[in-house]
Amino acid sequence: MSTGKINVSVENIFPLIKKFLYSDHEIFLRELISNATDATLKLKHLTSIGEAKVEYGNPRIEVKIDKEGKKLHITDQGIGMTKKEVEKYINQLAFSGAEEFLNKYEEGAKDTGIIGHFGLGFYSAFMVASKVEIITKSYKDEPAAHWTCDGSPDFTLEEADKTDRGTEIILHIADDSTEFLEDNRISELLAKYNKFMPVPIKFGTKTETLPKPEDAKEDEPAPTKEVDNIINNPNPAWTKQPTDLEEKDYNEFYRELYPAQFEEPLFNIHLNVDYPFNLTGILYFPKLGQDMNIQKDRIQLYQNQVFVTDNVEGIVPDFLTMLRGVIDSPDIPLNVSRSYLQADGAVKKISGYITRKVADKLKALFNSDRADFEAKWNDIKLVIEYGMLSDDKFFEKADKFALFPTVDDTYFTWEELEAKIKDAQTDKDGKMVVLYASDKDAQHAYIQSAKDKGYEVLLLDSPIVPHLIQKLETSKENVSFVRVDGDHIDNLIKKEEEQISKLSDEEKETLKTTITDAIAAQSYTVQVEAMDSNAAPFIITQPEFMRRMKEMQQTGGGGMSMFGNMPEM
Ligand code: ADP
Ligand code: MG
Repeated sequence: MSTGKINVSVENIFPLIKKFLYSDHEIFLRELISNATDATLKLKHLTSIGEAKVEYGNPRIEVKIDKEGKKLHITDQGIGMTKKEVEKYINQLAFSGAEEFLNKYEEGAKDTGIIGHFGLGFYSAFMVASKVEIITKSYKDEPAAHWTCDGSPDFTLEEADKTDRGTEIILHIADDSTEFLEDNRISELLAKYNKFMPVPIKFGTKTETLPKPEDAKEDEPAPTKEVDNIINNPNPAWTKQPTDLEEKDYNEFYRELYPAQFEEPLFNIHLNVDYPFNLTGILYFPKLGQDMNIQKDRIQLYQNQVFVTDNVEGIVPDFLTMLRGVIDSPDIPLNVSRSYLQADGAVKKISGYITRKVADKLKALFNSDRADFEAKWNDIKLVIEYGMLSDDKFFEKADKFALFPTVDDTYFTWEELEAKIKDAQTDKDGKMVVLYASDKDAQHAYIQSAKDKGYEVLLLDSPIVPHLIQKLETSKENVSFVRVDGDHIDNLIKKEEEQISKLSDEEKETLKTTITDAIAAQSYTVQVEAMDSNAAPFIITQPEFMRRMKEMQQTGGGGMSMFGNMPEM
């Protein structure tokens, strides 16, 4: 037997990293701005603890395109690097200076918001650049350094004459990546990844209109001024304390997140936890109505204010992907691949926490203003009903606030419904029978007939109702649901209430035969006996079981497609 060390040669690995490190080349900008942000936040921390005796000032990051020179510059005013540090942090692949910093300053640095931790981000620059330069000056009293590398493992490192503190990264954009020399493309990337990063980011200038001077003439245009174009809001609402925010602040932030969205959200949930994991965020309940065909890219995931993805599948339970908002957690790795993210243990805990918070908020809303909760029910029921179906813990909590509206707009909780109908609506076996309609107009005659008999009729019309009913029947004891036009309804008819028919037996038989022939579908039953003088002269019913089977097949396929497979019933 022999043991040894696998010999990794940089020559072989380097091109692989360039090609496969990230599937998306565009994220190089996010990585470089993250490093610039880290460098700034490190300086902030070091000045705050007195270790760096320099003025922190109002540092910012600048992104600049040099179209003619085919270069992209990213400049910061952070801690910078000495020549030695460039050797240590840049020349050592996969050595994270960010991680080292956090380890060194431990507790105190935990909340600095430092982003990096793989020690690979910087090299993503080579996905779009044929040559990269770093010109950097440390906050320490040492000469500046200039590092150049053309993507081969060879580099040059020399002293430079930069005098102001901070780092400038210069990317010589490769011929196949010239899109990153376009203003629009860079603007788009900055808006996508850096909109809420904690250090101001300048990209060009913009024209600001100033107020007209008082003595200005009518047709005189308002004066303008060129100002720095700062593309980010460094203090987004979710980083603040819930106690410092009012309803209007939440709504304003909603518009900032979704500028094209005109409708106000119904309510929000501020997430804020730091043990056993770190998570902040704001979720919004938009008006949903009946529409299940909702795009999934509605919640944005951030890490330390850096946008990671708008596909939160696997992080947020499926039923909550109908919500909008942001989640920010440094415990969700800014990872290389998506499958890695979904397998992460912390991510599972986070999902459980979010579900709990949403349930608690709904409960609180229900308790504090029931009328308002009822008014919103139609727009939130899809989320709640789907949550009840797919998550047993949520089901338990929702039992207290899930509503069952009647066709006459009375809203019962399950407990209230039970109290109301337990004795009056039972079948032969003593089972409580919940009557419901799914379409007020189409089932009008049936509803009327049931109401005439004194029964409560629920209106359950969301597309997942067949599944929900199944779930309720299996988790509640001694209950069965019957649609008003279902065949079981005659089980309910009270014996003492004699049916007065104006037809003779012979007439009834003829009518029944005629109609049965006419509908020519075996799954329907014609009941002339059950006719009611106030409503229809006869009733055509369909076996509850058959109809449900059909519905479940339908909603399990097309209608539920946004959710992939429905949970096991
Ligand atoms: P990570 O950010 O995960 O630590 P990177 O590959 O992105 O790894 O960067 C490697 C290291 O290089 C950083 O940790 C940091 O020490 C140093 N570095 C990169 N960019 C800068 C910068 N703009 N200013 C100062 N140091 C930087
Ligand atoms: Mg980094």
